[in-house]
Amino acid sequence: MTIFSKIIKGDIPSYKVAEDDNFYAFLDINPVAKGHTLVVPKKEIDYIFDQTDADLAAHTLFAKRVAAAIKKAIPCKRVGVAVMGLEVPHAHIHLIPLNEEGDMDFRKEHLKLSADEMQDICAKIAANFE
Ligand code: AMP
Repeated sequence: MTIFSKIIKGDIPSYKVAEDDNFYAFLDINPVAKGHTLVVPKKEIDYIFDQTDADLAAHTLFAKRVAAAIKKAIPCKRVGVAVMGLEVPHAHIHLIPLNEEGDMDFRKEHLKLSADEMQDICAKIAANFE
C-alpha cells in the first residue's frame, strides 16, 4: 500500500482540503508555496497516464475544482499544475499557487510552515471547495 493510500484510509494524518468517492486532495507536507496541494485518485495506480481515459478525465476535473478553491483561498496569479511522481508511486497532481516562475521550483528550499499555518491554509481551501 502506498503512503497516499494510507493517508486516504486515515492511517496517516493529512491536511485534507477535498474528497469525493474517487479522489482525495490534501496539502503537500513539504510545500514549495503556501497552498501547495496534491490531488490523488483513491484507486492506487502508479503513473498518471496509466489511468483509463475516463479516470484521467475525472482526475483532471476534480483537480480543476480544487484549483478553483485554491485560487479563491490564496491570493496568486495562477494555480500551477505539475506531475512528477518521482518520489511516491501513486498518481498525483501538484497544484501550486504562483506569483512568479520561481514559485514552482522544486529544487529551492521548501517552506517550513507550522501546524497552525497548515491547518489555517487547509481550512481556507476546504471552505472554498465547490
Ligand atoms: P513526487 O512523487 O516527486 O511528485 O513527490 C511526492 C510529493 O509528495 C512531495 O512533494 C512530498 O512532499 C509529498 N509527500 C510525501 N509524503 C507526504 C505526506 N505524508 N503528506 C503530504 N505530502 C507528502
